[in-house]
Amino acid sequence: MVSLFTASIRGIRPTLRTTARGSNSYTLHLTQRTFIPNLQIQRILTRNMSGGVKAKSDSEWRAVLSPEQFRILRQKGTEPAGTGEYDKHYEEGVYTCAGCGTPLYKSTTKFKSGCGWPAFFDAIPGAVSRHVDSSFGMQRTEITCTACGGHLGHVFKGEGFPTPTDERHCVNSVSLNFVDDKKA
Ligand SMILES: [Zn+2]
Repeated sequence: MVSLFTASIRGIRPTLRTTARGSNSYTLHLTQRTFIPNLQIQRILTRNMSGGVKAKSDSEWRAVLSPEQFRILRQKGTEPAGTGEYDKHYEEGVYTCAGCGTPLYKSTTKFKSGCGWPAFFDAIPGAVSRHVDSSFGMQRTEITCTACGGHLGHVFKGEGFPTPTDERHCVNSVSLNFVDDKKA
């Protein structure tokens, strides 16, 4: 399975390791300068090179996340519009990654978009990474936690919201935890 998975991707050498708990994890090494056509592989490389959090296998993530958190953060799912805990939440504080705890957004950048998901016009610098997402026949920009690679949502630009950036980070509530400034 390993060779099938990687045979078509020149320039990448995978190393398979089996963890103490019996799950497999792969470390990917670039062996030459090459264009990598597989976006998923690029994401894995980006994630591993970020260095902020040790890469976890799916079984390790399942052990620490709820099924809904796993579906959204690790399988790029989406919570139903208008259902999220933080959709209409406007307390002062910081929103952290539900996967790894990294601070991602400040409440001062949250705004009412009416879209049904928490909306922010900017992220904490460096905390959020962007990736081209061509799924569902659309060209969108996916946003992930830089530290752990967890899926957050998508970012949209030029929609005309009266914010300093004219960007809308459309984030799943499930991907976030809120830390109240007063209790921090
Ligand atoms: Zn994270």
